[in-house]
Amino acid sequence: LYNQLTKPDWLKVRAPQPHIIFPSAEIIKKHGLKTVCEEAACPNIGDCWSKKHATFMLMGSICTRGCKFCNVATGKPDMIDPHEPEKIAHAIKELELRYVVLTSVDRDDLSDGGANHFANCIIYIRKLNPETKIEILTPDFLRKPGAIEIIVESKPDVFNHNIETVPSLYKKIRPGANYFWSLQLLNRVKLLNPRIFTKSGIMVGLGEKDNEIYQVMDDLVMAGVDFLTIGQYLQPTPSHAVVDRYVEPKQFDNYKNIGKNKGFTYVASGPLVRSSYQAEEGYFYLNEK
Ligand code: SF4
Ligand code: SF4
Repeated sequence: LYNQLTKPDWLKVRAPQPHIIFPSAEIIKKHGLKTVCEEAACPNIGDCWSKKHATFMLMGSICTRGCKFCNVATGKPDMIDPHEPEKIAHAIKELELRYVVLTSVDRDDLSDGGANHFANCIIYIRKLNPETKIEILTPDFLRKPGAIEIIVESKPDVFNHNIETVPSLYKKIRPGANYFWSLQLLNRVKLLNPRIFTKSGIMVGLGEKDNEIYQVMDDLVMAGVDFLTIGQYLQPTPSHAVVDRYVEPKQFDNYKNIGKNKGFTYVASGPLVRSSYQAEEGYFYLNEK
């Protein structure tokens, strides 16, 4: 099926400008850090980096889970670098980032799921970069009691956790995760500290139906989520889930309008929208309200 689907023109992007990419990539390398922007060869890199916005990957590059849409390696995870929080704080200062997203692989092997490491990163970044806004995009902390309280206590500006897809596809696409647990996690953050903006995202093109997407929107609104992202799923390698459909840009506009009508304060919806794309716009829009 995938082979019969030719990638449409609206998914083609111009190669990023080297003068934007190279200097930043050098700084990131010097500090021994990894960004999702580079690792995932994200099509938005030129746009995001020129706006002083990047996404760092914490706690190594090997995940304890194996989602069918994700190109991150699965296996025995890396040792945690206790100096990573300082390194990230320094890199952010050198890069003069205005908005940073911190994310990580899933760390089911750790008793806190990595919550303390996220919190330490926030503390160090704030010390060195008091003006930089911090969004964290976390795993689900399934069976990690106390983890979410640690996260909330560290007061990120935005808490993001992706619901990724509709519940009927969870077993196939997101094994090891639980749709209702993810909803509950988002809701819990909002209940513990309503001042933290919450955010979630889904991909389309995995086999979901539009009415299922609208149901997910309702569920997220009920969980108090402020900000929604919707983007096209692209198959990273032939062994990943096949692309079921390429959603047209005008349908993404429809999703955006429907999402806003359902009660999200901000919706980013478009073929190339990724969880951390336009995150800054979302934050400032919400914060001014
Ligand atoms: Fe990096 Fe996210 Fe922008 Fe992609 S969308 S370049 S991962 S910040
Ligand atoms: Fe990828 Fe996250 Fe799934 Fe790990 S838990 S395989 S990093 S989507």
